[in-house]
Amino acid sequence: MTDVRMYMFQCGVIRQHWHDLMMNQRLGEPVEVPIPWYLVTHPRGHILIDGGNAPECATDPRGHWGEVAEKFVPVMSAEQACLPQLEAIGIDPADVRVIVQSHLHLDHTGALAVFDRFPNARVLATRAEFEYAHAPDWHVEPAYISADFVKPGIRWDLLEPTDDGYDVYGDGVVRLWQTPGHRRATCRWRSRCRAAGRTRSRSTRPTPWSTGTRTACRAC
Ligand SMILES: [Zn+2]
Repeated sequence: MTDVRMYMFQCGVIRQHWHDLMMNQRLGEPVEVPIPWYLVTHPRGHILIDGGNAPECATDPRGHWGEVAEKFVPVMSAEQACLPQLEAIGIDPADVRVIVQSHLHLDHTGALAVFDRFPNARVLATRAEFEYAHAPDWHVEPAYISADFVKPGIRWDLLEPTDDGYDVYGDGVVRLWQTPGHRRATCRWRSRCRAAGRTRSRSTRPTPWSTGTRTACRAC
């Protein structure tokens, strides 16, 4: 039986400026923002949370992201994409049953970009973010790369807001909530599992990060 464990990954960094991260602060100062994503192994099928950048960002970021790649520059190797990192720890993509999308910005859709390699996965996202990502306001449109997630075959399972969240397997290991924040309807998550390589259980909880909108794990 597969242990319930959490693995954290980093899909390189995005080189940008502080003033594009926090409006008009630290003008002109560069910053490198790490791009995290997560895997929770589970006996009923692994849960992948986001997936970093699309693999094309390792070789042709301008071609895949367009002009936004000149302001927000992805720096990653081919090995830092989602699939190579899963395979490096012996995870068969066919054993991933759930892909959770915290939201659909370009640095979170790396798994969807290669969705055909996850033949048994469904995708959980908030309905509000799904609908917005398909028709974003003009000023945020560059942050959504439709080539990653607007295509046939993706098995969406869209979530409505609830008070007590959505328990992915009904066992409390991963529970999702819709909250406002970085996006109007970010899908936040909490995982109760064991960090990979550790011997004791720890719970994790969403932690405001950077713009106060992404989540990070305190367990690992
Ligand atoms: Zn975002």
